[in-house]
Amino acid sequence: MGIELKHIGVIGAGTMGNGIAQVFAQSGYAITLCDVERSTLERALGRIRKNLDREVAKGKITGAEQSATLERIVTVTEREALAACDLVVEAAWEKLETKAELLSHLDRICRAEIILASNTSSISITKLGAVTSRPEKVIGMHFFNPVPVMKLVEVVRGLRTADETFTLIRDLALSLGKTPVEVHDAPGFVSNRVLMPLLNEAMFVVMEGVASAESVDQVFRLGMNHPMGPLELADFIGLDVCLDIMRVLQKGLGDPRYRPCPLLVKMVDAGWLGRKSGQGFYNY
Ligand code: NAD
Repeated sequence: MGIELKHIGVIGAGTMGNGIAQVFAQSGYAITLCDVERSTLERALGRIRKNLDREVAKGKITGAEQSATLERIVTVTEREALAACDLVVEAAWEKLETKAELLSHLDRICRAEIILASNTSSISITKLGAVTSRPEKVIGMHFFNPVPVMKLVEVVRGLRTADETFTLIRDLALSLGKTPVEVHDAPGFVSNRVLMPLLNEAMFVVMEGVASAESVDQVFRLGMNHPMGPLELADFIGLDVCLDIMRVLQKGLGDPRYRPCPLLVKMVDAGWLGRKSGQGFYNY
């Protein structure tokens, strides 16, 4: 395709966006990180700095590498600044309307040859591609949380995603030290199609009083050797993100077994979003 990727745009500077910006910057790419709020961008930079501090303390990187990484990241609230990028990765809310509006805007402002990638956990890449004039250049680049630590990138091909787009994103993931896995477009792809119903079922178990959150998590940590139990993991992912994904599975697959647990709905309504809000199945 002949695009040289040097300058990467990341839109959405929340849990995932700041991690994505960090790994690209650590691999030498220039980053423009965009969010609607200045304060979110400041928080994202603070998190990246803290992550890098830890790597310096462990001797994994030098202080000079830390400074160089931070210098590669520019933060902006104006999307127009992304027009100069060679690739944009979208990591905004897990809502079809939000992502569709963003992608159609990026399609208008970015050069015709550049790829628009989405970090969506569950939304159809085919649908996102269809709101642009370049569906062959729209692809899923699904990172995992925490991005600097987790090796996997699910590379999701929409129905109209071109082979060249897939190859370029697969190679890009490799250049970040990640392991890309090719999947086709379907609600929740592979990871969340299988994981979210497990988390949702664990919530039903708590709601029905079968066991406490602590007990459910213990069953999975000690009995299945999971590093985190399903409720700890749900808090870590964000309960709002879990609910959004369950709704995508429910709507996309049309099977009642994907019904979001009412306790999850209630907790999100209450503003209990897990770690990021300080309260979820646990108090932080
Ligand atoms: P988050 O709520 O932490 O962050 C989302 C950010 O997007 C917020 O800072 C918000 O201000 C910003 N945003 C929303 N609309 C925007 C717009 N129009 N323009 C610019 N910025 C906008 O969410 P997150 O957990 O980082 O999730 C982001 C995406 O990554 C979602 O699609 C989610 O499904 C996916 N994802 C999440 C996880 C996870 O574990 N949390 C894992 C993999 C993928």
